[in-house]
Amino acid sequence: MGCSSSAAATPPAAPPVAALVSAPVALTVLTLGPATSATAATPSVTVAPPSGSPRLSRATTTTSLALQSQQAGHCRRPCKFGLKCYRKKLDHLKDFCHPGDSDYPASVRKHKIKGEFHTFKACFDFVDPIGKGIIDDKKLLGELMWHLDDQHREEDQLDSLWSEIDDDGNGFASFPEFVEWANNKGGVFEGMKLGLDEECGPGGKQECGFMGCRCKSFRPADDEGMFCSCGHKKFLHTAPDSLDMLTPVPDYWSDNAKVSGQDVNEWVDCDDDLRQQMEALINASAKQSWTRDRGPPGTAVPASFEVVQVQRNENSKVWRKYYLKRSLIKKHVGDEASDTESFEQKAVKTTSPGLPDQPVDGDCNEWFLWHGSSLEAAKSICSNDFKVSLAGTTTGTLYGAGTYFADSSTKADEYAKETGGCFTLLLCRVVGGRVLYTDEVTPNSDQLVGKCLHGVYDSVLGDREKCRNTFKEFVVFSTDQVYAEFIVSYKRNY
Ligand SMILES: [Zn+2]
Ligand SMILES: [Zn+2]
Ligand SMILES: [Zn+2]
Repeated sequence: MGCSSSAAATPPAAPPVAALVSAPVALTVLTLGPATSATAATPSVTVAPPSGSPRLSRATTTTSLALQSQQAGHCRRPCKFGLKCYRKKLDHLKDFCHPGDSDYPASVRKHKIKGEFHTFKACFDFVDPIGKGIIDDKKLLGELMWHLDDQHREEDQLDSLWSEIDDDGNGFASFPEFVEWANNKGGVFEGMKLGLDEECGPGGKQECGFMGCRCKSFRPADDEGMFCSCGHKKFLHTAPDSLDMLTPVPDYWSDNAKVSGQDVNEWVDCDDDLRQQMEALINASAKQSWTRDRGPPGTAVPASFEVVQVQRNENSKVWRKYYLKRSLIKKHVGDEASDTESFEQKAVKTTSPGLPDQPVDGDCNEWFLWHGSSLEAAKSICSNDFKVSLAGTTTGTLYGAGTYFADSSTKADEYAKETGGCFTLLLCRVVGGRVLYTDEVTPNSDQLVGKCLHGVYDSVLGDREKCRNTFKEFVVFSTDQVYAEFIVSYKRNY
């Protein structure tokens, strides 16, 4: 091929995927010990910003305040039998809540009992009590861990747990980060299932998890769907598949990437058909426009691009996080009632022609977007994901400290670096979800970031094509929303 260096990322050792057995269940109802009683009785009002996150102002009090009002509000009493409850009367369910119910976390806090959290989703809901999709309160993490393993953790221990979970370094722990962490952590999480079965995977059956029950598929026995015909509660039914089965890789990935329980991390050479389609895409999304990011005025803008080689990044771990995030956003944008503004699909420059055999999901504004890079940086991104802590260090942060993408190849090409005669662009899957649009020349970046991290929006679209006649910029603040799928090596034609 025309480029002198053709790189392959080194595959890391595959971490074992947790075996699927029912999690052990604690029966005893306990009162909170002195070590955690302060946290439980008086939710923290000031929340320190997580460490290692210098850029965003992340300190929030919203979680704690919402917790206080939740505790004051109505929730059912927790059933003392928890996951082992066998009561089959609807009246019992009207009076008592059980693990997996939406009022269960608040009820556990209010009645100061030892809670049971049997899926990753149930764990996360406990630490994200108002459903923001992120954990921003380390104390809540400490509370969860105490419920799970009875250990009280000091602040420095929580700090180190936190930095393990916050893989992309944006200062928050997202659900996909939490799942990836817990799945590898084992211990109290050993054998725990995802608990997001309706959103994920090929839509398989939900098996009953009650000890000894042979039910293989949930069949509602009452109008409200609270019980299965097997006699056990709905929340005990979960998909039997392991995490990698619930977050399948795209069909067109290599067979190696489809082996369950085995993680891959490699670059796979694509065929000449895809190279040609990529060349059509890169040129269809080019635009003759100069900005300062290209160089001093007068710096020539390439007239077209010639694609030399295309490689596909197959990285199971990063894909799982991306898949989970995309599933969550898709559910959230389809959820009309909870939002003030209806979801709008946005077409971008790569929507047409796109890549015919590698479709994107327009229902959640999944796009293919360009990211200019060096070959070295591309290698790092593909094996370790984007790191928010590095965002904007070279390119400014007009729309906040996130990760920036372009729908125009010419814009991304401004940041591409030459190695061995070729430039490198990454073509990334990005989930835009609910898009916060701005055509302001100098936007208030703190406000934009806040509306994405704490509001209903999932991404920012800075329309400088409209306000400056240059390019659109797309920004996400959580790297789970990005999957760097194709490494494109190309030459510039002037
Ligand atoms: Zn019960
Ligand atoms: Zn059953
Ligand atoms: Zn059943």
